[in-house]
Amino acid sequence: MKKYCIECGREVKKITDENGEEHLVCKKCNTLNDDEVLEKYEIHKYNQSVHNNITKANDLKDNSLCFIIIGAILLIVGVVFLVLTFKRLPSGLREFKPWSLEFLLAIIFLTLSIASLTFGTVRLIMALQRKDYFKKALRK
Ligand SMILES: [Zn+2]
Repeated sequence: MKKYCIECGREVKKITDENGEEHLVCKKCNTLNDDEVLEKYEIHKYNQSVHNNITKANDLKDNSLCFIIIGAILLIVGVVFLVLTFKRLPSGLREFKPWSLEFLLAIIFLTLSIASLTFGTVRLIMALQRKDYFKKALRK
């Protein structure tokens, strides 16, 4: 299971010091996150820190949901342009025009949509993992 920093909420990494002992150090703020160190935190300060990190995770979740909604809107616009790429001929049949402006716009909107949906989903998963971790980390 991934572990997260008590100070800033980012992922921690395992490092081995010159004595061969393993430590958990934050990638961002370099705070030591070993269990022995965390046990020395006062319960009040510890819980406050955990609550701050839950709030941060919630903000990240809201932010990622925005990207997912924007991605969904771009997807709809892209599909509309894709449909418009099929021009109706006088005979009533529809012809695909790959060199039309509609097709270019469809490609652009669909690409942006996929990028936004992927980015949003990755952030959402990260936010939910962090929130889950810090909820379990709360001390009674
Ligand atoms: Zn940190």
